Amino acid sequence: MKSAETKVEDTEENRQICRKYCGGCPTYKYNSLEKFQPDTLFCARGKSSSPSMKEVNCYCPACPLFDKNNLVIGRFCHRG
Ligand code: SF4
Ligand code: SF4
Repeated sequence: MKSAETKVEDTEENRQICRKYCGGCPTYKYNSLEKFQPDTLFCARGKSSSPSMKEVNCYCPACPLFDKNNLVIGRFCHRG
């Protein structure tokens, strides 16, 4: 059953999956999100603490965790 309660687990395996998508994402690169915490897996760990954020594009919909966890929209680095 689909549920808004679905939660992505914060595991090292999931962080590695995320790095393949967020790590190559234009928004991530433009805002140098590797410099701020959380630096990955925003869908589980919340939005970036970067003081300024410009949304460029989001690769979340291509990520396997996105479908698996029934996530919507993406841009979790900015929107939490
Ligand atoms: S959450 Fe989406 S917009 Fe943000 S860095 Fe990851 S892929 Fe890019
Ligand atoms: S859905 Fe987005 S933030 Fe979550 S693991 Fe995938 S690429 Fe990272």
